[in-house]
Amino acid sequence: MKEILLCKYGEIVLKGANRRFFEDMLAREMRYRATFFGKFTVTHAQSILYIEPEDESADIEGMFEAARRVFGIVGVVRAAVAEKNMESILAVARDYLPAYLAGHRTFKVEGKRGDKTFPLTSPELSAEVGGAVLSACPHLRVNVHSPEITVRVEVREHAAYIHAGQFKGAGGLPVGTNGKGLLLLSGGIDSPVAGWMMAKRGVKLEALYFESMPYTSEQAREKVLTLAAKVARWAGSMQVHVISLTEIQQELVKHCDEDYFTLLLRRYMMELANRVAKEHEAQALITGESLGQVASQTMQALGVTNAVARYPVFRPCIGMDKEEIVQLARQIDTFDTSILPYEDCCTVFTPRHPRTRPELAKVEAEEQKLPFDALCDAAYATKQTFYVKAEF
Ligand code: ATP
Ligand code: MG
Repeated sequence: MKEILLCKYGEIVLKGANRRFFEDMLAREMRYRATFFGKFTVTHAQSILYIEPEDESADIEGMFEAARRVFGIVGVVRAAVAEKNMESILAVARDYLPAYLAGHRTFKVEGKRGDKTFPLTSPELSAEVGGAVLSACPHLRVNVHSPEITVRVEVREHAAYIHAGQFKGAGGLPVGTNGKGLLLLSGGIDSPVAGWMMAKRGVKLEALYFESMPYTSEQAREKVLTLAAKVARWAGSMQVHVISLTEIQQELVKHCDEDYFTLLLRRYMMELANRVAKEHEAQALITGESLGQVASQTMQALGVTNAVARYPVFRPCIGMDKEEIVQLARQIDTFDTSILPYEDCCTVFTPRHPRTRPELAKVEAEEQKLPFDALCDAAYATKQTFYVKAEF
């Protein structure tokens, strides 16, 4: 029996003249992902994206999971294909549905005659298929008001599709429909989650990682590239820029008040992020900051860092508890990588008494002890770029 995937779009996307554009974009993304799982045909019609295996060797299970990670898709359904006649529809229903209905006690059938030349009306279609289900699964009862599971039979242009239950898609908006954001990606738990959340709103990601060799290791960089690859399974392939902060950190330690190390370093990070965003045409910066989580994330500290930014800074984790961030990190499979114990540049030279209520004027005075622009120029010259390809 032939099984295919039906993907339902999020509704917001479909309003107005952009509909065609979004549909093509989602179809293109699905076609790309499908190349990892064998030969598939991807088409769209009547607000549904069809993913059809071309032969037996296509891995529909793998494609199903990959399709569920496409932003802009709210639901993915595995459906059996029947010919557009009742004999075929009933035979397929009897064969295909029992596996999906085991473990449920009540059901109903929603028949939908999309093709008006089909001889049975929608209620007639529902009743016939309901009868076939009852004979194939005698443990089931019909409950039209609150069934545990709904069987759907859709007679469409080319074939009839039969399925039970729907699986949630990733939701959100297709990546690339809402500009490009530069994600400040550390090896921690929060920033991959922040990037994922913005990608969900349609933002195409590019990442920036600051390292501080020899204080940070090659493994720390590998870890960040792994995190980028994991986020890319939703957000798509991305460039990861790496900039060295070693010299800046050494100068800070030599010349500035220890209490301000972290804040000053974060202002350098912001300035370097401005420059990367400009060169690579990002329209916003993204960080994993969460209000009050650490000394550099109090409202005053965020104000001091934000003062350097020349782009909007999106901080989607700002109002989340650590527990909520961890939960999302597990869900998107970045957590286990994030907790690998490699040093981050922020944890090298951490002040013993960081300022939690810094005054901007005092921070700026401290900053003027060093040639800010010249140090940024030198750091920027260390920029290397890696291309992290999405693998599904
Ligand atoms: P995370 O878990 O994302 O590392 P955190 O709770 O450890 O966050 P900080 O280390 O203060 O908090 O960093 C706050 C934010 O600054 C991070 O979420 C990230 O966006 C950015 N950031 C911190 N360190 C780096 C780094 N080495 N490279 C790039 N961005 C960084
Ligand atoms: Mg961190």
